[in-house]
Order: sequence, then C-alpha cells, then structure tokens
Amino acid sequence: MDYDVVVIGGGAAGLAAARTAVRRSARVLLVSDGPVGGDCTFTGCVPSKTLIEAAARGTPFEEALAAVRGAVAVIAAAEDDAALEREGIAVVHDRAEFVSPRQVMVRGGGRAEAVHRRARLGGGRCACG
Ligand SMILES: Cc1cc2nc3c(=O)[nH]c(=O)nc-3n(C[C@H](O)[C@H](O)[C@H](O)COP(=O)(O)OP(=O)(O)OC[C@H]3O[C@@H](n4cnc5c(N)ncnc54)[C@H](O)[C@@H]3O)c2cc1C
Repeated sequence: MDYDVVVIGGGAAGLAAARTAVRRSARVLLVSDGPVGGDCTFTGCVPSKTLIEAAARGTPFEEALAAVRGAVAVIAAAEDDAALEREGIAVVHDRAEFVSPRQVMVRGGGRAEAVHRRARLGGGRCACG
C-alpha cells in the first residue's frame, strides 16, 4: 500500500501531523512503537492538568487520582486505533525507520510498508539515518 504521508510516532506531534494530512485528503499511515497519545495523554499534559484542576478545587488525593485515570481514559479512547481508522488514518504499532529518502521500513513487517512523497516525524527520536 502506498501512502502520501507516513507519520512516525503517535504522540501529540504525530497525531497533529496525521490529522492535518488526512484533512487535506492525504492517504496517511501512522507508525508508532509507543501508545498512541504518547507522553501528552498518558504522563504529561492530560494527567498534570487534571491533577492541577483537582488540587485547585481541594479534591481529596484518591479522588484526584481517579479523575486523572478517567481523563486519560477519555482522551485515549478518542485517539485509539479504531478512532483513528474512523478518521481515515491507518495505524501500525511497530518501530519505523527510513531505508531510503523516500521509503519507510516497518521493522516487524520486514518490508517497505510505505512509499511516501513527504514524511512527517512525530517525536524527538529521529529514525532517519
Ligand atoms: C508533566 C508534563 C506536563 C506537560 N504539560 C503540557 C501542556 O500542558 N501542554 C503542552 O503543550 N505540553 C505539555 N507537556 C509536553 C508534552 O507532553 C510533550 O511536548 C509532548 O507529549 C511531545 O509529544 P511528541 O509527539 O513530540 O512525543 P511523544 O509523546 O514522546 O511521542 C512520540 C512517540 O513516537 C514513538 N516513536 C519515536 N520514534 C519512533 C520510530 N522510529 N518508530 C515508531 N515510533 C516511534 C515513541 O515511542 C512515542 O510513542 C507536558 C509534559 C510533561 C512531562
């Protein structure tokens, strides 16, 4: 399958890139070896802002933790594979690396999964090498 855009990394950056591309009618593949949502959903923005809000309201700690778990679950559900597929984004859970300037290899698949005209790198660890 050929894609117009291959997004490597399913964190906040990769999700924004994938959603922007699919809104512009690109065929988009998102490849991530971590949970879709990344640090922002699971350990960063979402839990910290929920905790700060709960603290500001004087919520008991156990309730605040429950609120964090609830908020993470709601956001994660809006970003899971099924949600992204509904948006038109194909998702592969694996490590990706560039094997040429125009090809991305999905490691577990052992073959070139996508030939792209443009690549977007979501996340800080560059796999181009
Ligand atoms: C406590 C805390 C609070 C924060 N609050 C905010 C906030 O309020 N607002 C805000 O804007 N930011 C906030 N941040 C920062 C925010 O969380 C990060 O900027 C954001 O999560 C970075 O997203 P990312 O997509 O670049 O990386 P990540 O979330 O790290 O996602 C990258 C993903 O790409 C995958 N990946 C990398 N290389 C490959 C590869 N070769 N193949 C396949 N997958 C690959 C990784 O496994 C990972 O899953 C906060 C951070 C922390 C720690």
